[in-house]
Amino acid sequence: MCGGLLSFGFRGVRLATLGIRDNWECLRQSACDRTYLRYVWLVFGVMVRSDDSQVVRYTYRLRCSVTARARLLAEWDRCRWVWNRCVAESREAYLACQPCGPAGLDKKLTNWRGEHEWLRAGASVPQQQAIRDFAKSRAKALADIKSQRPTQQRAGMPKFKKKDLAPPSLNYTKRGFRITNGRLHLAGGIELGPIWSRALPAHPSSARVYRDTLGDWYVSFVISVSADRLPETGRAIGIDWGVTETATTTSHMHDLPHSEHGKKAAVELARYQRMMARRRPPKGRPASNRYKYAKRCAAQAYAKVARQRADDARKWAKRVVRDFDRIAVEDFRPKFLTKTTMARKAADAAIAVTKTALIAMGRKHAREVKLVHPAHTTMDCGKCLARTKHRLPLSQRIYSCTACGFVSPRDKNSAHVVLARAGFNPAGVDCGSPDRSPSGQAA
Ligand SMILES: [Zn+2]
Repeated sequence: MCGGLLSFGFRGVRLATLGIRDNWECLRQSACDRTYLRYVWLVFGVMVRSDDSQVVRYTYRLRCSVTARARLLAEWDRCRWVWNRCVAESREAYLACQPCGPAGLDKKLTNWRGEHEWLRAGASVPQQQAIRDFAKSRAKALADIKSQRPTQQRAGMPKFKKKDLAPPSLNYTKRGFRITNGRLHLAGGIELGPIWSRALPAHPSSARVYRDTLGDWYVSFVISVSADRLPETGRAIGIDWGVTETATTTSHMHDLPHSEHGKKAAVELARYQRMMARRRPPKGRPASNRYKYAKRCAAQAYAKVARQRADDARKWAKRVVRDFDRIAVEDFRPKFLTKTTMARKAADAAIAVTKTALIAMGRKHAREVKLVHPAHTTMDCGKCLARTKHRLPLSQRIYSCTACGFVSPRDKNSAHVVLARAGFNPAGVDCGSPDRSPSGQAA
């Protein structure tokens, strides 16, 4: 996956709205939450339907000739104009207390195309889709207002798109594109060469062509496929997140060590940052081409690290999902770590990316994934679930239970607690709540 609309960069989208809060042990379950499914769709390009079919996105890098790029940008300029007209119309309709739906805007598009020859010169499909995008965005903003969502969480009404700030994004429905001899032909005579890194499993129902922040072009196809069911294994796993080791699990074979991709790229990044510092333009002066080049190099290095982290996360998630039916995940929020001395290492561990990849992969293959509240996972005993009364400083890496004498590495113990709290312990028996000592405390 890649940048732009279907960002794989996990830009701070929180999984806060992930599930419903259960009374028992604050266990959070991610099932059947539309917000979560929408998030997974946006980030991973997977949408699970109830009838066992899935809508997935297949994204490919594009090779664009100079002509094709110029045509794409010209097409985008027209679509941007249509979008901006829609914003203006929507504002006028609001003042006049009139409705402003996609059907009305479609009619207006016909008029606009009749009035302006330059608009008529572009294909109608991406322009109609620009109206669809606008209508969706407006409907979402209105729904947020109606449901009295907190202001910070609202997307807001659609705004004008500025020429140099809005990244190009063109959507084509089935009648707007075709694939012939490995080439992608868009309406309006634009021919592009996708880099077919993997085969398309079916004929796509739509294609979105977009440019990411680094200036690379991609095409993202929407395809409906049947769910990829993995064989049942009857096994369960508990996963605890950490900084020394990104994921510690109840299975020795599935621990995920810290990849240190950021650390490995630090020298290269520092080099580009020094270049940027030397070439930084004086205040009020435009940036030089040499400064822009250094900035782009730094951005590419960052993007590479992000891709490596995402790749590691997906591969590990696939391995876990293939080997286990039921997955208990600590619902860890790594944000607080940014204020500690571990901030750099914690950020490099990419816990949030890995957690999201695991949840999405579990959802994709119809595995049971349970999110467990992280409170006291280090304090409780993984065997008898009694809570220690003494302090457990971070330096103490071995957990020993005073109640039952269970001794285990600290993170392994937490993974067992997560597994037990999800009700997956003992594995393969039932999903009831585990037994606890009557007082809930160690003797
Ligand atoms: Zn114990």
